[in-house]
Order: sequence, then structure tokens, then C-alpha cells
Amino acid sequence: MKIDLHCHTHYSDGALSPSELLMRALNQHVYVLAITDHDTVDAIDSIIALQQKEKRALKIVPGVEISTAWHGFDIHILGLNIHWQDEIFAERLKQQQANRLQRAQKIADKLTAAGLGDAIYDDAKALAGEGQLTRAHFARALIASGKVDNFDQAFKKYLGKGKRAFVKPNWISVSEATQWINEAGGVAVLAHPSRYDLSAKWLRRLMLEFKTAGGKGIEVIYPGLSPSLKNQLSLYAKEYAFYGSAGSDFHAPGRWSELGRHLALPDSVTPVWQLWEDAEPRVDS
Ligand code: AMP
Ligand code: MN
Ligand code: MN
Ligand code: MN
Repeated sequence: MKIDLHCHTHYSDGALSPSELLMRALNQHVYVLAITDHDTVDAIDSIIALQQKEKRALKIVPGVEISTAWHGFDIHILGLNIHWQDEIFAERLKQQQANRLQRAQKIADKLTAAGLGDAIYDDAKALAGEGQLTRAHFARALIASGKVDNFDQAFKKYLGKGKRAFVKPNWISVSEATQWINEAGGVAVLAHPSRYDLSAKWLRRLMLEFKTAGGKGIEVIYPGLSPSLKNQLSLYAKEYAFYGSAGSDFHAPGRWSELGRHLALPDSVTPVWQLWEDAEPRVDS
């Protein structure tokens, strides 16, 4: 039985629709799945409706992955088990979504100025559909038009921090995102702490600030971690009294990417799902 608390649908930069994701989770024997799209909860209603129709033993945890800015770094804060229909929260997410669109327009302008044509915004927007427009969509548009060979190149040449089409995002702060999540009844979890290129000293500053703002957990298990990093993250969880989370950050089926795979938490870590497991179920009523 597998628990996976981090994944994306096509309402952000995931490849699968809510129903495709649900079927895949069932096939992979995942029994608790948090849906955590970038800055949107648009997938949650339909996936819960489908889950109830299927009457299968899969629990959906309503979630979100909020983009924040912290000392020039893009830090991702997961909100787990949130009241996704909270109106104030929805209004707040709209701010982020407006920021996303403004940034996307500026990214497109820079790509056009770099000689990549003027169709790039429309191409990326078409790929995103009604979902949030992310840099991943620009990367896919660049690949589709033959401007770059792969995802990595798109980020290394154009979209990554400091590259030709990089636009400094206008995200909210870590504390603000944490407050939004707490006020929407959710649990704030620092996503993939080792993926920010922060030194140990800066990561500690981040965790302290996050904790002070009301952050409850950190991701301890996710793909690509070495045993020593897993150990380090478990130690941080203990030291800062954070609950531990585990998630695949699934975006699309692939050789290295699967829902629920290798996500067991070390015994020394207190699982974040303890926080809502014994509480009133939020989605089954
Ligand atoms: P955004 O939130 O619009 O800045 O887009 C970020 C998304 O692009 C992330 O969630 C990843 O899925 C993807 N991404 C970001 N950086 C990279 C990178 N260096 N290589 C590949 N994908 C990336
Ligand atoms: Mn993503
Ligand atoms: Mn992330
Ligand atoms: Mn993610």
C-alpha cells in the first residue's frame, strides 16, 4: 500500500488529466494521493467526483504547490489537506495566477527578442490549455518547434535562473504562503528541500523562517535522493520538529517517474498524514 503526497495534473504542468491520474494511481496501488498542482486547486473537484463514482479504496488529499520567492530563490510550499473550496484561499490563488500570466508574457517577449519567433506565447498557452501556464510549457513549445533538443537545454539556454529568457518572478513570500495554507485549514510542507541549491546554512535559515511562520513539515522522501541526503533530511525533520512527507512529484509517465514508487518514510520520521488521519475525513462526506 503506497502513499504519495505530491503530484501534478494537466491543470498545471502535469501530462495527465484528473481521471488518467486517478486510474494510474489505482493501477500502482497507491491508496492515499495528494493532488498538488502549481498554484491551483482546479483538478480537485473532478478527481474527488471521479473517486466517489469509482468507489475505490483510494483517498484523495486536496493539495496545492505554491511558488514563493525567498532571497532570490524559487521555494515551493505544499499545502496538504486544505479546504480547497475556501473562498479567501481561491481569491489568493488568483493573485498568483495573474502573476504567472504576467511573467509568461514577459518570458515570451524575451524569447521573441532572442530570435525564437513571435508564436511562442500562443504555442505555450495552447499546450497549457485551461491549466496554469508554467515554464515547463515554454520548454515543451521550444522543443516542439525544434528550437531546443530537450527540456534540460530549454532551461539551461533560456528559461533557467539568469538565462536569456529568465524573468524574476513576483511570487509571494514563504511566510505568506504558509499563512494562506494555515488559514485554509491545511498543513504547510516545504517541498524538495535539496533541490534549491541552498547551502546547509541557508537551508537552515529557510527552515527556521518556515517553522516560525507556521510550517509543519518537510519532504523527506522524493525521487533522486542519495541515502546520505535522505538521512540528512530525516535529521532535519527531527531537529526542527517537522513532520515528514513523501511524494513522487509525478508530472508524466516515464522511465524514472511513477506514482507511489519508493516513497517509504524512515521509521525515525513522524509521518505528516498523522495530522489528518484521525481527524474528520474532509472529502468523503
Ligand atoms: P514555473 O513554476 O512556471 O517556474 O515552472 C517550474 C516547473 O518547470 C517546475 O515545476 C518543473 O516542473 C519545471 N522545471 C523547473 N526547472 C527545471 C529544470 N531546470 N529542468 C527541468 N524542469 C524544470
Ligand atoms: Mn512542475
Ligand atoms: Mn516543486
Ligand atoms: Mn511539484
